[in-house]
Amino acid sequence: MTRSILFRSTVALGLAAMTAFAADAATLVHAGTLIDGVSNDPRSKVTVIVEEGRITGIRDGFAAPADGDTVIDLENSTVLPGLMDMHVHLTGELNPKNYLERTQLNTASYAVRSVEYARRTLMAGFTTVRNPGDDGTITVALKSEIEKGMVPGPRIFTAGKSLATTGGHADPTNGLREDLTRDAGPEDGVVNGPEDAAKAVRHRYKEGADFIKITATGGVLSVAKSGQNPQFTQEELRAIVATANDYGFHVAAHAHGAEGMKRAVRAGVRSIEHGTLMDAETMDLMKKHGTYYVPTILAGDFVAEKAKIDGYFPDLVRPKAAEIGPKIQETFGKAYKAGVKIAFGTDSGVSPHGGNGREFALMVEAGMPAMEAIRSATMTPAELLGIQDTLGSIEAGKIADLVAVHGNPLENVDLLQNVAFVMKEGTVYKDERYPGAVARVKALD
Ligand SMILES: [Zn+2]
Repeated sequence: MTRSILFRSTVALGLAAMTAFAADAATLVHAGTLIDGVSNDPRSKVTVIVEEGRITGIRDGFAAPADGDTVIDLENSTVLPGLMDMHVHLTGELNPKNYLERTQLNTASYAVRSVEYARRTLMAGFTTVRNPGDDGTITVALKSEIEKGMVPGPRIFTAGKSLATTGGHADPTNGLREDLTRDAGPEDGVVNGPEDAAKAVRHRYKEGADFIKITATGGVLSVAKSGQNPQFTQEELRAIVATANDYGFHVAAHAHGAEGMKRAVRAGVRSIEHGTLMDAETMDLMKKHGTYYVPTILAGDFVAEKAKIDGYFPDLVRPKAAEIGPKIQETFGKAYKAGVKIAFGTDSGVSPHGGNGREFALMVEAGMPAMEAIRSATMTPAELLGIQDTLGSIEAGKIADLVAVHGNPLENVDLLQNVAFVMKEGTVYKDERYPGAVARVKALD
């Protein structure tokens, strides 16, 4: 239970930075149990050594601190790598007012909300997220301000605006009355034909996106009739993937219907999001191409529940939510058994931000062992993002993103909904024994 006086005093100050340790001092994290994200077997009683934001060693037993070192006592907890969610929308959260708000609120309102949603996501133990789809460039700015230490939040990989075809799932003018709508183009993410497709990808590059999101089929929440029809031609998809590759981007494809999914997989997208009506042929194709499946069971579950409430959704949306929502969990179970690569994703922003951890319970309920569910939220997404050399596991040399839960999440996966400790890049953001202790990270340059 030893802690340095410095650590206690900074916690007592609440907002003060908790990283102000002496330059050559180490933080010793005493882990009762360690799930490192690589091994199938948890280790018990180990010390994770953190120096200047990096993991510099892992030792058996609870190492005693040298002069100036800080000990973080998680001797009764399970320590895991920082969790990763490959599908969140930090700029909003579904509520019945959303459809009216989109005609009333300016971008600034969504930007303010995104700051709070990012904080909640980090406090839930998610230290890295992928944001596939934004109204503008809010998450590009949010990512950058989080990196500078202005606000607390996860490390963000953002697609900026999604790409769709006219009237497609991510056409921002869908469902608006005649005088508010317009013929949106590549800058808004609306493309028709390979030339538009390439131009839209280049716009995202110019705006600072990290990858490309496309809506390969209809979707549930857009005010449009079909939730599953294919919405891009094979030619358009190939142009998007080829241009994306030129800029070092991967492509994530939202898809509910099988035909749109197959076209996207053949074109070379890296991941299929939702994948609701994925058939055996699509699963084989994904295995052949190495395509990841990001299931978002939680979103399906959430919209299916809300579809039961009169007036929650617009008339065009409600039947889609009722039909598509309940099917994702079963599809996930089949895809897992078929050996499709699964990367954890929740579509939070449909369900409330910070509730991301419930996806683990839904995955386990559908037949995935808890250890594999944890790996789908640690090492697998790191591989999807191409950051597996620096993140995704607790190993010497990696960035110190650590979370902890009280008890054993392999026996009770629900514990992952109650993350008690969060460290990102060596900075402690949450420590249950000091509620309200939120670090304000480093000072701005
Ligand atoms: Zn989404």
